[in-house]
Amino acid sequence: MNYPAASAIKEIWQKDPRTLAATWLDNRQAQWDVVALRRQCPCAECVDETSGARKLVPEQIAESVRPLVIRSVGRYAMAIEFSDGHRTGIYTYDLLRKLSQQ
Ligand SMILES: [Zn+2]
Repeated sequence: MNYPAASAIKEIWQKDPRTLAATWLDNRQAQWDVVALRRQCPCAECVDETSGARKLVPEQIAESVRPLVIRSVGRYAMAIEFSDGHRTGIYTYDLLRKLSQQ
């Protein structure tokens, strides 16, 4: 599904303990598995900035991890703080579109 680059999230909510759901500005719906989101964290702690190689080992992220705080960053991204104490992940809307299940 192609989203216009400028589209952003109108509303985001916890659909169930493991699922985040959102409505984009164009009214399309999206959903994310919260554990998968944590495992895909794009921050410098989780991904090598030079090589782009993933440093985070997915198996080391517990299935019980949950988002605690979600806030928007400028007009391009959302920052997610997780229950494992990880709070440096900034998910651009572009990345969120790629990771969404719908
Ligand atoms: Zn990270």
